[in-house]
Parts: sequence; structure tokens; C-alpha cells
Amino acid sequence: MKFISTRGGMAPAPYSAILLEGLATDGGLVVPETVPQLSAADIEALRGLSYPELATEILSHYATDIPREDLAAMCAAAYSAEKFVAEEVVPLTAIDDQITLVGLSEGPTLAFKDMAMQFLGQALEYVLARTDRSLNIIGATSGDTGSAAEYALRGKDGIAVFMLSPQGRMSDFQRAQMYSLTDDNIHNIAVEGVFDDCQNLVKELSGDLDFKRANSLGTVNSINLGRISAQMVYYFWAWLRATDGVAEADRAGFEVSVTVPSGNFGNILSGHLAKVMGLPIRHLVLAANENNVLDEFFRTGIYAPRGSAETYLTSSPSMDISKASNIERFIFDLLGRDPERLSAAWAELDATGRIDLTAELPRLQSEFGFQSGTSTHADRVATIRDVHAARGIIIDPHTSDGVKVAREHVEPGVPMLVLETAKPEKFPEIVLEATGQQLGIPEHLAGLLELPQHVTEMADDAAQLREFIAARAVRA
Ligand SMILES: *Cc1c(COP(=O)(O)O)cnc(C)c1O
Repeated sequence: MKFISTRGGMAPAPYSAILLEGLATDGGLVVPETVPQLSAADIEALRGLSYPELATEILSHYATDIPREDLAAMCAAAYSAEKFVAEEVVPLTAIDDQITLVGLSEGPTLAFKDMAMQFLGQALEYVLARTDRSLNIIGATSGDTGSAAEYALRGKDGIAVFMLSPQGRMSDFQRAQMYSLTDDNIHNIAVEGVFDDCQNLVKELSGDLDFKRANSLGTVNSINLGRISAQMVYYFWAWLRATDGVAEADRAGFEVSVTVPSGNFGNILSGHLAKVMGLPIRHLVLAANENNVLDEFFRTGIYAPRGSAETYLTSSPSMDISKASNIERFIFDLLGRDPERLSAAWAELDATGRIDLTAELPRLQSEFGFQSGTSTHADRVATIRDVHAARGIIIDPHTSDGVKVAREHVEPGVPMLVLETAKPEKFPEIVLEATGQQLGIPEHLAGLLELPQHVTEMADDAAQLREFIAARAVRA
């Protein structure tokens, strides 16, 4: 298996090489040269596996340059009982007759980013050790990516983390989780701006090939293909668990729909790839908050990213994104995996601020199975309140956006899975507003908010950032 760029200008590279890169050398995004195909029988054969075994199986289709026993050891370490609270790693919980939550927040930072990041931490350590290299991770986070990366990479030899976050735009809990770390290899930087400003700084430094080489820069944000590949695993897991109760004769091709609370289009892109691999997903339903550029795209065929001034600060902050980097990978597939058409679309975006794909709208919905919807603060509050009243289950605001939109797309006879992307304890204000309940911090994290915090505040200034990183980068 080799990986290529959406823009056609990168020599095909193996998995171990793209783990350290993310962005392709020509400014495009890295994608698999061909997507592996699994038959219904291949998928059925995965049913008896534990989560780490399933991860080994799915990832072995992509990480073909890593020996299988090494991959198995990495998956076992990433998805161990020490890291994930639930014994099955990803538990499924029905909230009514049709909707079931897929629990992706059992890891150390209580959000789904741990699912991919714990694997990536293992994989990076493995690859670096074999090549005598060091790596300085530069990333942008609106909350959960940063903490998941820091918890996956803290204390690792040969790796430092430089994590940019938007000043004043994360919850107290998210800040405490990241800024309280004391490991020497973790550097938190709070930028004056929103998430997209942070992401643009990361793109600018990563795009400066001399600076990047001199400082061994790499990324682990949601464009990292190592993460995208690790996220496919739980779509397979969710389908297998959702169909455990289906009669054996009816399982082959049994369709479920999946709703995904979305921001940077990373999570749902993994679902798209799982579907292309052959997993019977009927609809992939994209749930957006008030920052609904992607809902607009899937309803109209026009992708028109917004600037930071038009990006709202909402009560599901990890979805406050108006320029979804990963959409480039999906549009590559939509345009027949043709780098010339893709490059033309991005030239149109640069020239006009939008890409008009209205001609592809019917295929978006029928061939690719996408549906979408938007949820507002009032929807989030009402949905948290009523899931709690009906089932005694408290969901977080992002998952609530998912449940709200899922309800609008439920079809008779088709189970609807909603990916739970965070634990409610991370967002106590909205839970209080919705249910009147004051959620405490989970017991194993008691005292977190009182710990001293370590963060460097910085203007939205690439020159200052370069200087900061050059002075602190780890070198082999
Ligand atoms: C990151 C995140 C999302 C959005 O996921 P994308 O992969 O960026 O679409 C949704 N909910 C939570 C809690 C997150 O941390």
C-alpha cells in the first residue's frame, strides 16, 4: 500500500513515511493510492475480535510496511485497560428504539480524539526509534486534539509537542487538562485568535520546507492520515456490535446509518473510507453546530469556507470550525480521484472563495450516502435535557448536536448510530443549564482545575512562533 497526494505532485510513499508528515509535499493531502476492499465474508470474519485485534486487522491493510506482530503490539498498548475505562474500549448504549450511542470517550482525555491519538503515539515512537530521528510536533487545537496529542506523546523520547490553542476559546477543563502538564517535551501556546488562525500558523510553518526540515516538524492534527486510518476501526466495531443481535443469515450487507458530530471533517472522513472499503453504511449523517459550512455543502453542493470573523463561539466548541481541511480528501473522491480536477477546484476556491459542486449534488447524496443537518445552542440544551429525562443518560453538547440531527434522519428498520465524541464532564455549564445537575470532575481527575498551568501567550505572528520553536525543538 502506497499513499499519494490529492494534487498529484508527490511520489507514492509508504505508511511509516506519511505518519510523520500529514500534509503532502505539493500542498495537497495524503490519501491511499487505492482503498482496500473487504467482502461481506471478510467483515463477518472480524466479529469475534477484541478491539485491539480488530484495530490490528483494519490497520494492516494500510500499514503494510510494518510487520504484523509489531502492529499488534502497538494496538495492544494503545487500547489497553490502563488507557480506556470501558472493558470493551468502545461501548454501545441505546438511547431509544432506534438511536444508539457509540462510546468513543473512554480514554484519558474523555474525548474521541484519544481513539486515534493513542495509536499514533505508539506508532510514532516505533517509527522514530527505527530511524534514529527526532520529531517536533506542531499542532492547532480547539480543545480536544491538543490534550489527546499531549497525553499520547508526553514524556516520549525524541518527541516534543508545540500545541497552539485559541486564547479564551476552550473550557476551563480543557485548559486545565493541557496546561497542567509538566513534562519537559510539552509546550502550550495560546494564540490571540480563533482555531482557524492557529491552523493557518501551523500550515504556514509546515509549508516552509527549510524551516520544517531544520526543525524536524511534523503534525498530528486531524489531517494526519495515521489518525484517519485509526478512526476507521471504530466504524467497523460499531457495525459489528450493532449487528450482533441480527440473525446470521441477514447480517451480510445489513445497513446502519451513522451520525457524526463534525468540525474538521476528520471523523466522518474515516466513516466515508470505511464505507468505501465495503462496510454497509447506508447514510453518513454530518451534524454541524451554528458553524455549518459543511451542512451547507452537503445540502447545496457549494463549499464556501468562512473567515475567523464569521466563526461563532458556540457551546459545542470543538466544532467551531469554518474551513474543514479534510474535505479536500472527500472532494478528491467525489471528483473521481482526479488530481487535475481537484487542483482546478482548489484554484477556484483560491480565486473566488468557494467551490461550486452543484453538478455533483445528486451523487453526494445517493452514491456517497451523505446527509446533514445543523444544531443550535437551544437544540443542544433541549436534546441533553430530553435524553436525560427519558433515559437518565447525560450526553455532552457535541454528542447532543449529533442526536438532534440524527433524529431528523432516522428511517424505519435502519439502526441509527450516533458517535459520542466527548464526556459531559468536560462541559458542565451546558449540562447544568439543561438538567439542573452540577457534574463534578470524574474521580480519577479530581484536583485538576487547581493545578498550576503552564502556557505561553502569543500574538497571531508566525515570526514569533518560529523563534519560539527553533529555541526549544528536540534534535536527534
Ligand atoms: C474534534 C471533535 C469533533 C469534530 O471532529 P472532526 O474530526 O474535526 O470533524 C467533535 N466533537 C468533539 C468533542 C471533538 O473533540
